[in-house]
Amino acid sequence: MTRFDLPALKALYDLPFFELISQAREVYRANWPEHEVQLCTLMSIKTGGCSEDCAYCAQSAHYSTGLEREALAPVATIVETAERARANGSTRFCMGAAWKGITENDAKFPQVLETVREVAKLGMEVCVTLGQLTPEAARQLRAAGVTAYNHNLDTSPEFYPNIVTTHTFDDRLATIRSVQAAGMSVCCGGIIGMGETELDRLKMLEVLCSFDPAPESVPINCLMPMEGTPLSEQPPVDIFQLVRLIATTRLALPKARVRLSAGRTRLSKEGQALCFFAGANSIFYGDKLLTAANPGVDADRSLLAALDLGITKPQPLAV
Ligand code: SF4
Repeated sequence: MTRFDLPALKALYDLPFFELISQAREVYRANWPEHEVQLCTLMSIKTGGCSEDCAYCAQSAHYSTGLEREALAPVATIVETAERARANGSTRFCMGAAWKGITENDAKFPQVLETVREVAKLGMEVCVTLGQLTPEAARQLRAAGVTAYNHNLDTSPEFYPNIVTTHTFDDRLATIRSVQAAGMSVCCGGIIGMGETELDRLKMLEVLCSFDPAPESVPINCLMPMEGTPLSEQPPVDIFQLVRLIATTRLALPKARVRLSAGRTRLSKEGQALCFFAGANSIFYGDKLLTAANPGVDADRSLLAALDLGITKPQPLAV
């Protein structure tokens, strides 16, 4: 596979708009001939009170966002939510916990493993986002049935300290290495609209392109400004910048699921259609995305139907 460095990514990103999205469309069609969108459900299994200071996040204990701190959800509650997600057409179930990370020695780790084992029986892809991992915790999560680990880079290495000071960009990369060594696929992307430049976004993409193996999934989030966080006043992302980034990601990482993630409530239907045209092929589905609003299930179904896009089918239930 050709690896794209920053100059190559920038050359693509700066193509005339219609040339860029036409090239991305061609690569999308060659690699994803089914024209399907994967529906993923994201559940917050432990909300609020996080020790980290990510400037975009309502769950950080560093900011007064009015969010109630909750304990780790019981296994049965999570499994019920996963069953509902599956019945609604999701083929990937992602579980997110608001904490710095987890190790094999944490008191809550056995409950996390038990949750994964139960959710894995439903036949969906099982993704977790649990912060920093040790190599051993990664190995045990894989053995319990995790198929993918989400750990976003968020932004460029240079801009990262403006967003987070309680851990480093290199900490993120170390966890991603542990995840890959354990045999889980990597779901890794970023957030745009945090005050970074367009070049920062491409620098983040350059790091994603350096992963070996390439990330299986690349979520592209638009900031949802949260009351009480340092980024609460950020203006919305320009739709054409978002489409350019999606198209460039599609060209650089042809086989990755490019997930149009947070921020869709601030996009028009036409804007989302352009994102799908440029190569996005997955959305998060359901009314809530951790603590942020998301378009309703009916609105998403009718948008996909209007665009004649299929929905990735669930696997048969494991017995
Ligand atoms: S993004 Fe994750 S690690 Fe950062 S404050 Fe929010 S929950 Fe904590």
